[in-house]
Amino acid sequence: MAQDPTEETVMTTTSSCESCGMPIESGRYCGYCTDGSGALQSFEDRFARMAAWQARRDPEASRQDIERQVLDYMATMPAWRDHPTVQAR
Ligand SMILES: [Zn+2]
Repeated sequence: MAQDPTEETVMTTTSSCESCGMPIESGRYCGYCTDGSGALQSFEDRFARMAAWQARRDPEASRQDIERQVLDYMATMPAWRDHPTVQAR
């Protein structure tokens, strides 16, 4: 998670995707979190993608740990923090 300070200064106009936190240039969501028409994908779709991504980063973790980590992360995202599944975690 080390940030290059030079890069951060250059990227001051960048906002982040409200679904996954990825830096984006404009709009609310990145291309990975939207469908072809630009609408935010469903919670189930994003959860499955993020769990798969997290499992690749941390192959030793159990499925339960992965899902917990993804829910904890999604709880910090404006697009998902009020979702019932996130609230119920
Ligand atoms: Zn995103």
